[in-house]
Amino acid sequence: MTLIASRTCSVPECARPAFIGGMCRLHYRRLQTARKAAVAPGAWRLEGYDTFSGEEYELGSAHDGLKPSYPTYGEALADAHRRLEYLERTQPSRSSGGQASGGIQDRVYIVHPDGRKERVFPVTAPDGSRS
Ligand SMILES: [Zn+2]
Repeated sequence: MTLIASRTCSVPECARPAFIGGMCRLHYRRLQTARKAAVAPGAWRLEGYDTFSGEEYELGSAHDGLKPSYPTYGEALADAHRRLEYLERTQPSRSSGGQASGGIQDRVYIVHPDGRKERVFPVTAPDGSRS
């Protein structure tokens, strides 16, 4: 099965191929611009990592259901887990390897106010097994 190549942009009614973070080039650039303006100093935020292309990408738009920034760690963590659930639906562990070492499912990071990045793992087993 073609896991990555068959994806299209996650923005409704946009049929362009997904470039990074599940969005096409145009919508991804728009998100980057909008988010830079919306991130408050001292806020927590989320970042994605495309394991396939080796690139970090912005999260936090109406289309991914996440916010440009969060006032607390707990809110950022809750949405990081939501994002991992979304990735499990769109890039299932059985074909992507999930979040396990060697898996190619996209990764999710919390970016702390000091700029430090913390990788977030699913609540379920990291080998992708789910009860
Ligand atoms: Zn698009």
